[in-house]
Amino acid sequence: MKVPFSYLDRQFADVEDYLHDIRALVKSGDFTLGKPLTEFEERFAKRAGMPHAIGVGTGTDALILPMKLSGIGPGDEVITTTMTFYATVGAIVATGARPVLVDSEDGLMIDPEKIEAAITPRTKAIVTVTFSGNIPDLDRIKAIADKRGLMIFEDSCQSIGGEFNGRPMGSWGEAAAYSLHPLKNLNVWADGGVVTTRSAELARKLRLYRNHGLVNRDEIEFFGINCRLDTLQAVVANRLLPQLDFITQTRIKNAAYYDAAWADIPEFVKPPLRRPGVKHVYHLYMVRAKDRDGLLAFLQQRGIEAKVHYPKPIHLQPAAAYLGYKPGTFPKAEADCRSIITLPAHQHLTREELDFTIHSVHCYYNGSK
Ligand SMILES: *Cc1c(COP(=O)(O)O)cnc(C)c1O
Repeated sequence: MKVPFSYLDRQFADVEDYLHDIRALVKSGDFTLGKPLTEFEERFAKRAGMPHAIGVGTGTDALILPMKLSGIGPGDEVITTTMTFYATVGAIVATGARPVLVDSEDGLMIDPEKIEAAITPRTKAIVTVTFSGNIPDLDRIKAIADKRGLMIFEDSCQSIGGEFNGRPMGSWGEAAAYSLHPLKNLNVWADGGVVTTRSAELARKLRLYRNHGLVNRDEIEFFGINCRLDTLQAVVANRLLPQLDFITQTRIKNAAYYDAAWADIPEFVKPPLRRPGVKHVYHLYMVRAKDRDGLLAFLQQRGIEAKVHYPKPIHLQPAAAYLGYKPGTFPKAEADCRSIITLPAHQHLTREELDFTIHSVHCYYNGSK
């Protein structure tokens, strides 16, 4: 049986409604900014529980822009976790700042214990990451940031719909960054990103910056760039938004189904720590597995598209060589990168596919392979 990781063909098997909306857009000629984008931003803000949402070109832009507009640049240091997708750190580098990496904890989240030691007089901000959809201890991180006068930026690209202690993403930082990439939980038909913020002034600057700094047709307030969210993608996103509850709830249900299946093999398969108060949206369903590489090969050979996110932490990437980290610097993340595995848990899996994956994992460990 094939258990696919990608679900795009299932999700978009019937696209008539989308095409109907796109035809209307083509007829209107409203291809940049315009009504569908404004409508999407208003609806997204409401869903994300923040007063302001600004559509930008990518999730990476959604990280870079708020940092730049908050004054982060060359000479500054920004702390983040080594256990993340490359774009978190790439965005820090794109502002001109130097990334300072920190080890992760049992939940694969940035370890708050390790943050203080990484702070120097040049530190300006902390970028928190909700890697996999789990959420770090944002209350503790906020307390550290407040005490040391640092800003927080939230990389929420993997946690749309996530909450911590009843508060939505973006509640702790200057801004939260979301990605609408085709493999994210809310996935449009190309690249796309959204920034949410509580700050009306940051929101105003973001709207100008993504559109050359234009305050009107003939005047720019400051020099900006062009990284608007495509209006066509806003049309797709408007169709998708009503599905977000189904997407989130199904992923949460699938994760609980998997979790229960490992209860009898805790020595082989263990979910990472999930703190009370976290609404984990399972962008990636990750577990730590004994003999991970053997399990991965076994599952793949049976047609189950398990993956590893990611086998090599940021500090050991060739791109990070200039930062001077050596193997052994972040032992927790390095060990986890050898044991984590991501199983398909998306909203379009059938019960048979989930059961086949569970059965296959058990087969691997009870030797009936
Ligand atoms: C996907 C992702 C990004 C970047 O989003 P893009 O839309 O691909 O630019 C940033 N951070 C994390 C954690 C991500 O998963």
